Amino acid sequence: MINFTVGPVQMDEETCGIGKNQIPYFRTPEFSAVMKENENLLLDLFDAPENSRVVFMTGSGTASMEGGVMNFFTRDDKVLVVNGGSFGHRFAELCEIHSVPYTEIKLDYGKPLTETHLARFENAGYTGFLVQLCETATGVLYDMSLIGDFCVRNGIFLFVDAVSGFMADELSMKKMHINAAITGSQKALALPPSMSFTILDEKAVERCQKINVRSLYFNYPGYLKDGERGQTPFTPAVGTLLQLNEKLKRIEKAGGIEKQNRLARERAQYFRSAIKDLPLAMFTAESNSSNCVTALCPTKPGVSAHRIFEIIKDEYGIWVCPNGGELSQKVFRVGHIGAISEEEIDALVGAFRDLVRRGLL
Ligand SMILES: *Cc1c(COP(=O)(O)O)cnc(C)c1O
Repeated sequence: MINFTVGPVQMDEETCGIGKNQIPYFRTPEFSAVMKENENLLLDLFDAPENSRVVFMTGSGTASMEGGVMNFFTRDDKVLVVNGGSFGHRFAELCEIHSVPYTEIKLDYGKPLTETHLARFENAGYTGFLVQLCETATGVLYDMSLIGDFCVRNGIFLFVDAVSGFMADELSMKKMHINAAITGSQKALALPPSMSFTILDEKAVERCQKINVRSLYFNYPGYLKDGERGQTPFTPAVGTLLQLNEKLKRIEKAGGIEKQNRLARERAQYFRSAIKDLPLAMFTAESNSSNCVTALCPTKPGVSAHRIFEIIKDEYGIWVCPNGGELSQKVFRVGHIGAISEEEIDALVGAFRDLVRRGLL
């Protein structure tokens, strides 16, 4: 199978090679050294300010979305949630569950956030802002400079879910005034699912220490304290963390984050220009699209997006990514993260062309 989903994505041979080894015992100075290195390399890739830290959470990306909501906000906060798809909606659900007062900025699916959306929230007493870098459901890339400036101007704590956008789209905690950001192991880092990572600036560290959440497993001050000596409070996904270490060092050697973002952009552009003449419309305008994923609508009447996902899987051995909910018949997605070659993109485009010949697309 060729995998064009947005996670788990195709892994490199190096990552797979490490995956076949036994899992070592981890309460050792050797593993601690690996973890300290992981922390420093991640801080570098996120362009995190001085004194930032990383919480290594064993759990998928949602665990770190929830951990962030629990550790950075309380019922005394008032937060803005950008809801332009299923991941934005998840932040709203988390605020609801954890009794964090919130206001949703609901966007039409596939549409960007603009200055107009934010205008009425200036000087309105908000203390937190929750947003995705890329809303993976539609492929919209949010304007993080616009959001960062708004947050600085209003003294708002900015928490960014960059699970899918990290290593595909530009992200700098320093330049964009981001206080905390997360990513996950099975997206662009192309590791097995199991871990997610939160980068906390000094303000985020202070916030979680002051809040001191009522949770054993999601207690960030505990993670930060153990992290000082390269450890975690509980058994982490040790194998994934070793794969992470090899991958981060390889990224650094290959030219760092700009290089990774450029490769994702090139894959996205290569794919998007190859399908220009096909009966597939981009659901999100190219100018607002992340490099992580392309959301596509079949334009021929009666063609179901979900059926295309099934046929491509069963008859061509390729996974594209189906959409859920109300977009399921209308939209499917093609991911551009992970170890994907041009030949594989050609194979997918070839499958689309074959479907057109067969009258199915
Ligand atoms: C994948 C993803 C997540 C995490 O999903 P999990 O299934 O919990 O790993 C969170 N946010 C975004 C934007 C994502 O793309």
